Parts: sequence; C-alpha cells; structure tokens
Amino acid sequence: MIINRSYAHRRVEMVKTVIVNVDPINPDISAIDGVAKGIREGKIAAFPTETVYGLGADTFNVDAVRKIFEAKGRPLDNPLIVHIYHEKQLDLIAKEVPEIAKVLIERFWPGPITLILPKKPSVPDEVTAGLPTVAVRMPAHPVALLLIERSSTPIAAPSANLSGRPSPTDASHVVKDLLDRVDYIISAGKTPFGVESTILDLTKDKPTILRPGPITVEDLLTVLEEVEISEAALAERPYKGIAEAPGMKYRHYSPEAPLILIEGENVVDRAKSVAIKYLREGRRVGILTCDENVSKYPENCYRISLGSLSKPYTIAHNLFSSLRKFDEVGVDVIVAEGLPSKGIFFAVNNRLRKASSEIIRK
Ligand code: AMP
Ligand code: MG
Repeated sequence: MIINRSYAHRRVEMVKTVIVNVDPINPDISAIDGVAKGIREGKIAAFPTETVYGLGADTFNVDAVRKIFEAKGRPLDNPLIVHIYHEKQLDLIAKEVPEIAKVLIERFWPGPITLILPKKPSVPDEVTAGLPTVAVRMPAHPVALLLIERSSTPIAAPSANLSGRPSPTDASHVVKDLLDRVDYIISAGKTPFGVESTILDLTKDKPTILRPGPITVEDLLTVLEEVEISEAALAERPYKGIAEAPGMKYRHYSPEAPLILIEGENVVDRAKSVAIKYLREGRRVGILTCDENVSKYPENCYRISLGSLSKPYTIAHNLFSSLRKFDEVGVDVIVAEGLPSKGIFFAVNNRLRKASSEIIRK
C-alpha cells in the first residue's frame, strides 16, 4: 500500500454532530442503538472507554476508517486499535492467537491492555497502516462494550482528540476538538483511568511493551516470565529509532504552551528555579505538581496538583485534563515534575516526556 499523508492535510468535511448523553454505568440501549446504526452505515462516533474517549468506525469499512484520519488530522501511517466486545470477534481480526495471548486475555480483558497480533488479510491496510500486525483490545466500559456489540462489527478507534493534542478524558474535551467533524459524540462523563491502554507486542521474540499504560509492568510480570520495554515506551529524547508503533514518532499529548519536564534529583528545587527564571521575564508560568509539593512553588505561578503521590491512579486520571486546563487559563510555559517510573507512573512519565518540548535531567 502506498501511504501518503494527504488525509491529514485535507480539509475536513463539516457534519452536524449528534451528541448522545448516556449513563456510563447503565447506558440506555435505544440511545446506543442509534449510534450503532450509524456505525453500520459508515459514520464515525466518539465513545467513552475506561482509558480515554475513542473515535470509532466499522473496522471493515475503509471509507469510514478514512474519515477518522480526516477528522483528527491524523497521519495515515499511525495505525488504529481494533476494539472488540467478545473474544469470539478475535477470529475476525487476528490470524493466530498465541498461547501467551490467551493467558493475558484471561487475566486482563476486558481491560486497558492492547495486544499486537498477526493480522487477518481481511483487516484493511488503512486500520493497520499497512503493517502485517493488528492492535486489539476489549475495553472495560459498559458503553463501549454495548456500542461494539450493537454495531455487530469490531470498531477501529484511536483517541478522540485532534492529532497531537492531549487525549480526551471527558466528553467536553471531545466536543472542544471534534464538534462538527464527527457524526456522533456519546457523552458519558469522565473516563476512569485517564491514560491510554498499555500496548504489548506479542509478535516479537519476547512480549514487548510499546506503550506503558494502566496494566503495569508489575501486573504483566504476575503472568509473564519476562517483559521487554521498547525504546518508544521509554520515550527517551531524542527518539531516533525506527518507530515500532509508527505513531510513536510524532509529538503527542501537547498543551498549547511549551512544557518543560524536570527529571532526576531535587526535582522541586530545580523546577522552582526554572519557574522563577520565567516569572522574572514576565511570563505566566504553569506548574504541574502533586499535593505534597504544590505549596513549595511561588503563588504567582498557576499551580495544578495532579493529586497525592500516594494515589498514583488519581494522578494518571488527572493528567490530560490538567494539560488542557493550562490551555484554558493561558500560560506561556508549563514546568512539570517528573515522577519515579514505577507502576502507572511509568505511563504518566511517558506521556509527559512525549508532551514536553524540553526535558531537563540531572
Ligand atoms: P491512540 O490510542 O490514539 O494512540 O492510537 C492507537 C495506538 O495504537 C497508536 O499509538 C498506534 O501506534 C498503536 N498501534 C496500532 N496498531 C499497531 C500495530 N499494529 N503495531 C504497533 N502499534 C500499533
Ligand atoms: Mg491518540
């Protein structure tokens, strides 16, 4: 397949978005059925999952899948994740399901982990960006599961944000980025985890994490003997390798203001001196910190705490909405504290690194 980036630059066709409000825990079937009918007819819909909001289309409808790339301004060489509601749909997508995948599925699905498997020829190249592999997951969210089931087809979806922007963890974020660029937005409150799924490649010699997420390395090691961590997952800068997950080479998750990430020792003191330098230049400075440290920064900074370090999943949950909050209040620069890369903090740090314009290490 010849891949070019023209869709990303083509002017998107405006549509009138239908916003469908549903209860996230007990969604109304008739409301979901209206959207499912749209999916079957080749329309695209934003929907909540337990990680972030996704923008979905019928996996097997190439025109519908292309609309996702157009609406997001997404480069065509960044593949999508196929979402299924039941294991029986795996057969439609994956050429083979290795034993190790079965063990992981049994333990973690439905849930926030995406598996990379060899693809069936029937999965369109547009979904996988021409790769011989496909990304699959079963989301643990009643709305997502019902939508996939009622659509009678696996749903291919990336996150429901404009390409490059922080992922949407609330319907209001989707509305801000994609209103009148997509056919439907299912609005069902905040997404529980707030960071995207872990991506685990099972087509390599050893299971390899391409993107860290809510299912942590520590979780995986309860069922796997070993786990490799790809360079892309570490998101060290500058990232020069060939992107294993093609999307990983682009800047991601970015708030409007440049974000300076402080890593290493004495993070607070070093972040503070960077902040003070910018304040002296008359800039509006945003600080991304935690409950334990928030009071240590000057009051004339715009300070956002992600929560207490003793609640890592809360910190992850608040990450993207906080990056978007800095856009709303309008700061000139954001100084962010790096976190120790353990558990779900590995995922948070990965997103911060990718969102950053500069990392200061010591
Ligand atoms: P998003 O959740 O918006 O980041 O979009 C889906 C993610 O899945 C992107 O980071 C893709 O690079 C990744 N992905 C999808 N298919 C594959 C694949 N076959 N191999 C590796 N990564 C993939
Ligand atoms: Mg995304």
